[in-house]
Amino acid sequence: MIDFVELEQDLSQEERTVRDEARKFVEEEVRPIIADHYLEGTFPTELISRLGDLGFYAPNLEGYGLSNVSETAYGLLMQELEAGDSGVRSMASVQGALVMYPIYAFGSEEQKKRWLPSMGKGDAIGGFALTEPEHGSDAGSMETQAERDGEEFVLNGEKRWCTNSPIADVLVVWARDTSSEGEPVRGFLVETDRDGLDIDTIDGKLSLRASSSGEFTMDGVRIPKENVLPGVSGMKGPLSCLTQARYGIAWGAVGAARDCFEEARTYATDREQFGKPIGGFQLQQEKLAEMATQITTSQLLVHRLAELKERGELRPQHVSMAKRNNVEMARDQSRIAREMLGGNGITAEYSPIRHMANMETVYTYEGTHDIHTLILGQDFTGISAFE
Ligand SMILES: Cc1cc2nc3c(=O)[nH]c(=O)nc-3n(C[C@H](O)[C@H](O)[C@H](O)COP(=O)(O)OP(=O)(O)OC[C@H]3O[C@@H](n4cnc5c(N)ncnc54)[C@H](O)[C@@H]3O)c2cc1C
Repeated sequence: MIDFVELEQDLSQEERTVRDEARKFVEEEVRPIIADHYLEGTFPTELISRLGDLGFYAPNLEGYGLSNVSETAYGLLMQELEAGDSGVRSMASVQGALVMYPIYAFGSEEQKKRWLPSMGKGDAIGGFALTEPEHGSDAGSMETQAERDGEEFVLNGEKRWCTNSPIADVLVVWARDTSSEGEPVRGFLVETDRDGLDIDTIDGKLSLRASSSGEFTMDGVRIPKENVLPGVSGMKGPLSCLTQARYGIAWGAVGAARDCFEEARTYATDREQFGKPIGGFQLQQEKLAEMATQITTSQLLVHRLAELKERGELRPQHVSMAKRNNVEMARDQSRIAREMLGGNGITAEYSPIRHMANMETVYTYEGTHDIHTLILGQDFTGISAFE
């Protein structure tokens, strides 16, 4: 596996162990089945409890049975999972960074005890519901409402593009609390067996096909007031979760690109045309050189982010730059790898076209490439170009 500037040398034993376990899991349990699931458009649900057994959900959190590994170890885990498929990494990211993290950071002790151990083992599955049919990038304009009624809240609204929701036990639904002054956005834990909640699978995706994507309506869904996340109010709630998840995505995209590079390198040395391996022609060598350079510089960026995160100095804008850069890199390099595989490269037998299609989703979700550009523009000028 390409590690051109020998980042491995600086890894701790724990980080190597997590990486090696994740790599082995992907080799033995993801690669053999993922192309078929991708073609079928299904998430491999048999992996859910295995990911839990291996401690791959939110391992960077502490307590409640979670292992508190370093941020580098967590990043390496995301990198290895996405080398398998973005759908598998997305499942683990949503569970860990978008559902367990807000419960961990903003939940009551009772909520933590109820959900974190079972979600850590993969016995319960979570989804994160921020996006609505009419409000994607501008999620702060959401229309979903939660109104206090005695000891309960009553939720009404629609959410779209909620990863894991068709297979979830609980959803973190972000909604306007119309009973509080200023109608702040708050997080509500909604069990999926509540009356009035109707979840549909989104079919017809041509990207991230090995992932369970859903949309749902809430028509008078009643939850006890104890299901509100008490520790946060306003958009900083969902945005702080997204910073956690985007950190994992920036690492994960490197894994997808690395897998494409390794496929292309192997193919280039095996495949012969005009009497010699295509890797012996300068045009193909130039592609490998560029791919390796882009992967290496993206790896350096996420390793630095891990250091800043450990020190508590990571800013959301740092994560925006890494998500923006690394996903664009993987999107571009997966296409070059696909090209190097010629006609065979358009089949599911090889991974680059699958990664290439996945990157269209990864480029769009968790803040589109454009939105991260605007976040950086605002950081550098002090002027917001959002509106
Ligand atoms: C497979 C998949 C899984 C997802 N999973 C989840 C999930 O689990 N939970 C969840 O809440 N959401 C999820 N999402 C939703 C995702 O976060 C949104 O798709 C994303 O935020 C973009 O919103 P949108 O699709 O409505 O596009 P829009 O916001 O309508 O954007 C359309 C285009 O306009 C551009 N644009 C928008 N605003 C501006 C601006 N101010 N300036 C310049 N250009 C602009 C965008 O960059 C984009 O190119 C998922 C999406 C997909 C595809």
